[in-house]
Amino acid sequence: MFPMNAALDLLQSVFGYPSFRGQQQAVVEHLAEGGDALVLMPTGGGKSLCYQIPALMRQGTGIVVSPLIALMQDQVDALREAGVAAAFLNSSLGADEQREVERQLLAGELNLLYVAPERLLTPRFLGQLERTEVALFAIDEAHCVSQWGHDFRPEYRELAILHQRFPAVPRIALTATADPRTREEIVERLSLQDARQFVSSFDRPNIGYRVGLRHNAKRQLGEFLQGHAGESGIVYCLSRRKVDDTAAWLAEMGVEALPYHAGLDAATRMKNQQRFLREDGVVMVATVAFGMGIDKPDVRFVAHLDLPRSIEGYYQETGRAGRDGLPAEAWMIYGLSDVVTMSQMIAQSESADERKRVERQKLESLLAYAEATGCRRELLLGAFGETYPGPCGHCDNCIAPPPTWDATVPAQKALSAVYRTGQRFGSGHVIDVLRGEETERVLALDHHRLSTFGIGAEMDEKQWRSVFRQLLAAGLLEADAEGYGTLRLTAASRSVLSGGRQVKLREDARPERASRRRRDSKLAANDKSRGSSLGIESWEQDLWDALRALRTQLAKQQGVPPYVVFHDATLLAMLRAMPANEDELAGVSGVGEAKLRRYGRDFLAVINAPA
Ligand code: ADP
Ligand code: ZN
Repeated sequence: MFPMNAALDLLQSVFGYPSFRGQQQAVVEHLAEGGDALVLMPTGGGKSLCYQIPALMRQGTGIVVSPLIALMQDQVDALREAGVAAAFLNSSLGADEQREVERQLLAGELNLLYVAPERLLTPRFLGQLERTEVALFAIDEAHCVSQWGHDFRPEYRELAILHQRFPAVPRIALTATADPRTREEIVERLSLQDARQFVSSFDRPNIGYRVGLRHNAKRQLGEFLQGHAGESGIVYCLSRRKVDDTAAWLAEMGVEALPYHAGLDAATRMKNQQRFLREDGVVMVATVAFGMGIDKPDVRFVAHLDLPRSIEGYYQETGRAGRDGLPAEAWMIYGLSDVVTMSQMIAQSESADERKRVERQKLESLLAYAEATGCRRELLLGAFGETYPGPCGHCDNCIAPPPTWDATVPAQKALSAVYRTGQRFGSGHVIDVLRGEETERVLALDHHRLSTFGIGAEMDEKQWRSVFRQLLAAGLLEADAEGYGTLRLTAASRSVLSGGRQVKLREDARPERASRRRRDSKLAANDKSRGSSLGIESWEQDLWDALRALRTQLAKQQGVPPYVVFHDATLLAMLRAMPANEDELAGVSGVGEAKLRRYGRDFLAVINAPA
C-alpha cells in the first residue's frame, strides 16, 4: 500500500534520524496499513515516532490522547520545529485559540492533534471528529486505564468508545509499564483483543545502577555529584523537609538545585519545573510528586537518598534518566532506618489490610534488590518477568563485586526452621524461633520444643532479616501470593538443605567495615576513569559549551526548552563530526530538513569559528 521506504524517508527527512530503533519500523508499518497495536516499550525507547510517522503517512489527522497537559506544549513545539502541522487542545487554551484549533482540524490542516481524554470524550468533540478524516488514534500512557497502576485516570476507561464510534480507524495504545497484569487490563478496557502486541525488552542499557548504604548522606551525594558537574538530574527524598534541606545545602555548595514537593505553592512548583526543563544543568530535589510525565531527554542522573516504595516505583523513577540514550546513572543510598519509617508509613496509612500486605511485600523485594550480590540489571528485569542474559558489566555489583561471606549454614538453619514450624509463618516468628525467644506466640504454639529453637542465637534480628530477604530474592524461599508474608520452601531449597548449594550474602550490609571502604574506592576509581557522563574531553569543552550556549539562546528566542531545538545527542554528534557545510550537517543524527534550514547556518558558524 505504501512505497517500501515511505516510513524511512519521513524518519530521515522530518526527524533527521538515520534508522529506526528496535520495533519502531514494524509498529509503524502495521499501523500505516490500518492495524491496531499495543506497544510496550521502556521510557526513552522511542514510542512517539510509532504513531507520529504513521499519522504522517495516512490521510487525515492523527489524534493523540495524553493525560499530561503539561507535556502537550513541548511535544507540539518539538513537532512544529520539525515542520509538522501539530496542535493541542486542552484547558490551558483560551476560547479563541480553541476555536482556531478546531477550525484547523475541520479544514484538514493538521497532521497531529494532542487532546486530553476528558476533552476527547465530549459529545461536541466526538461530533467534530466524525466530520473530519482521522488518520489514527494514539492512546499514550495507556496504563492510566488500570486501577493497579499508580496513575489511574477514570476517563481513560471510556476510551473504548473510540472503537465503537470509529471502527475503521486504527488505534495504538502505548505504555512503559511492564507488568503483565496492567497489560491485560489495557487490552480488556480498550477493546484491543485483536491488536498486535509489540513488547520490547525493558532494559535501559545506557543506565548504570549503583546502590549503597547511607553513612553520611550529604558527603556521599556531594562526591557523587562531582562526577556530574553541570549536568541535569533528579534527587529523590522521602520527606518534604529533607527535600528543602537538601536543596538548600546543594545551593550553598554551588549546585543549581531547586526543591519540588506538594507543600510548595503551585506557582513555585511551576517555576522550578520550568527552570528544570528550560535551563541546562539544573538539579531538581524532589519527593515522588515530581517526575510523572517529565519528558526531558537529557536527565543524566537520578539519585535516591531514601528507599523508594517498590521496585516498580524505583524503575520508573530511575527510568527518567537518559531518555536520549546517552550514558546516565541511577544511584541510591539507603539505611535500615528507612525500612522502619516505611513500615510505619504503611502501617499508619488508611489502606485496606490487603493493600498494606502487598505494600510490605513490595518493600521487602526492594530491600532484597538493594542487598543483592549479583547483577542488578538481571534482578530488575527479572522482577518484570524478563530473563536478562547477564551479567551486565555496567552496575556496581558487576564492576566491583561486593565482598560476600559464606552464609550456607545460617541459610540451612533458616530453611529448616521454616520447615519445622510448618511453613505457616512469616519471617518475624521464624526468627524468634531461631533466636530462641520465648514469646507468647512461641510458647502457645509449643515452638520452644522444636529442634530448631535457639539454633541461631549467634546472629541478631537484623542479620536474620537480611538472610531471609536474600533467600526470598534468590528463590530459595517463597512468600504466599496473598501477601501475608507466610514463607514456604521451594524446589530449590532442597539443594541448600542437603549441602549441595552454597549461599553467599553481602558483607557490606553491616555498617562500617574495611571491606566496604575498599570497594567504595574501587568504584570511585571507576568513576574517575570515566570522567563526565558524556565523555566530553578537556579539549572539546569550549566548543561543547559554545554549542550549548547557542542552543539556549535559540531556544529562548522561541520560548521552548533547549532540547526542542536539538538534543544533547545531536550536539554531541556535531561535536564529533565537525561538519564543515550544510551537506555534512544534514548527515548528523537528529538534524532534519526543517531544523537544517532554520539553524544550520548558526551552528556551522560556531563549529567552524576560528579558534
Ligand atoms: P518514549 O516516549 O518511549 O519515552 P520518545 O519517543 O520520547 O521515547 O523518544 C526518546 C528519545 O529517542 C527521543 O529523544 C527521540 O527523539 C529519540 N529517538 C526515537 N527514535 C529514534 C531513532 N530511530 N533514532 C534516533 N533517535 C530516536
Ligand atoms: Zn550488572
